[in-house]
Amino acid sequence: MKKKTKIGIIICDRYRNCAGGKCFRALQNREGAFDIYAKDEDVELVGYTSCGGCPGGNIEYAPEEMKKMVLRLFILPLVL
Ligand code: SF4
Repeated sequence: MKKKTKIGIIICDRYRNCAGGKCFRALQNREGAFDIYAKDEDVELVGYTSCGGCPGGNIEYAPEEMKKMVLRLFILPLVL
C-alpha cells in the first residue's frame, strides 16, 4: 500500500484573507518548502489556517486540531 503524507498549512495572520492559491500551486508543483516531497509522493492537504495573529498562539493548537481532523475524517470512518 502506497504511503500517503498528510500536511497542514498555517499562514501569517496578516494574510488571513488569502485563499492559498500560491501555496496550493507550490504544493502541487513541489516548489519552495514543498520540494521536500517527491513529485510522485502522495501528499494530501488536510488543514489550512492562520497563526491567529501576533504572537501566533494558534500555532500551539492548530496542529493538534488538524491531527484530530485527520483521525475524524480518515481513521474513525474506517473503524465505525
Ligand atoms: S505571529 Fe504575527 S508576524 Fe508571525 S506569522 Fe503570526 S501574524 Fe504573522
